[in-house]
Amino acid sequence: MTTNPSATVSQSIISGFILRFIFLTGALLLCPSMLKAQVNPFGNPLIPDMIADASIQEIAGTFYCYATTDGYDQGLKTSGPPVVWKSKDFVHWYFSGFYFPSAVGQLYWAPSKAIEANGKYYIYPTINGFMYPAVADSPDGPFKLAKGPDSFVKPFSSATLLKTTDPNGPAGIDAEVFIDDDHQAYVFWQRKHAAKLNNDMVTVDTAVITIPTPRKGYSEGPIFFKRKGIYYFLYTLGGHENYQYAYVFSRKSPLGPFEFPKDDLVSTTDYASQVFGPGHGCVFNVPGTDNYYFVFLEYSRGSTNRQTYVNKLEFNEDGSIRPVNLTLTGVGALCPVRQDRKRLVVEVKASSIRPELKIQPVKDSLLQRTEAFVPQFAFDGANGSRWMAAPDDSACWIVADLGKPHKIRQSDVYFVRPTAGHAYRLDYSTDGKTWFKGGGHSNLSVRSPHTDELAITARYLKLSITSGVKGIWEWNIY
Ligand code: CA
Repeated sequence: MTTNPSATVSQSIISGFILRFIFLTGALLLCPSMLKAQVNPFGNPLIPDMIADASIQEIAGTFYCYATTDGYDQGLKTSGPPVVWKSKDFVHWYFSGFYFPSAVGQLYWAPSKAIEANGKYYIYPTINGFMYPAVADSPDGPFKLAKGPDSFVKPFSSATLLKTTDPNGPAGIDAEVFIDDDHQAYVFWQRKHAAKLNNDMVTVDTAVITIPTPRKGYSEGPIFFKRKGIYYFLYTLGGHENYQYAYVFSRKSPLGPFEFPKDDLVSTTDYASQVFGPGHGCVFNVPGTDNYYFVFLEYSRGSTNRQTYVNKLEFNEDGSIRPVNLTLTGVGALCPVRQDRKRLVVEVKASSIRPELKIQPVKDSLLQRTEAFVPQFAFDGANGSRWMAAPDDSACWIVADLGKPHKIRQSDVYFVRPTAGHAYRLDYSTDGKTWFKGGGHSNLSVRSPHTDELAITARYLKLSITSGVKGIWEWNIY
């Protein structure tokens, strides 16, 4: 439904009771009959943005998520800038600015985990189709090219991880770096290539192997890790909706010899769970525990509109990997921290609503999804659903009604496409008629969430987006 921007759209079809029920239980998916046309089919991805190729790790009590920021329906012609999402509890994520300033504006994909070595941190992003080592003193950056002038004004083949002059050489994309217990580093990349990484962390041993696998075909997004003395190599097959992960393992070394397990599929499209094309992600372990997690992108919005999900990775007694029980619901907090209770929003109004979008599946697909953009989706506790204003709404706003006046101390807004920046105005009111300025900023700021510290008593909060993409994944009011 598209409305005149000047008109008020009252979204009163959902009663306050149902909204409370949704807030308390996250049960939006459980009551489709009550919420017809307002179901969120995308569940609760980890990050409130479209990201892919995620690499997650814990560094000094903080989870870091480096990833490809997707180009929003632009295919591989473009990508978002390098930002690193961080979280203390694995539920509330945030970023601010760019961690690799000179790479902004380039095609920036699959940055890998940040590897600590030689007193520094190294990442290995694929930039304009080639892997480049980059270095910084901190995992927050700023990173710069490790092997060449920190600039992309012209091609720098000498700055890439591998020589790119040989057309038959092993240059590729999607670096995954692993350091063994003896401190030897290894790098794995596209088409199942692997080699030792020299001590400088920026040059590669000349002995490059191709890891043998029982399943053939194009492969990218390799994952490598070690658990209880076993080395695991996970490789993708296919792509898009047919993306899947299989694995081989070695009891000897990171470069083999490898054994082929009987049940070797880790993840594949799961129609029952409505998970389509689980692809390029990572495996990470919470240090000090035997808890492993499988991170994957999901393809059900088509094109480069991917979101990233996390499920538990579990093992059998003999060390073999169990097929991942794929869900769109996530794993919740991994390290709970104190968080003030969110205020309940009992009614939402917005200046307009973007028309529903029917996702175009690939040929012969069973994917049937329609995305709605109602304002309630900014308050449903799910990172897969969002309110978006109509495209022609030049003065868009959204109002949260708390039902009665409350003391409010903070507002956290997770805008759609935060990497392009937002400016907005935040007003508050006790009666819905007289408004006072509460926060916001007029400068374009690249971050998420946008936080306003407040010390007010109000029943209504009104947010007017003055610059940036006109939509909100989530708005938390404390
Ligand atoms: Ca949402």
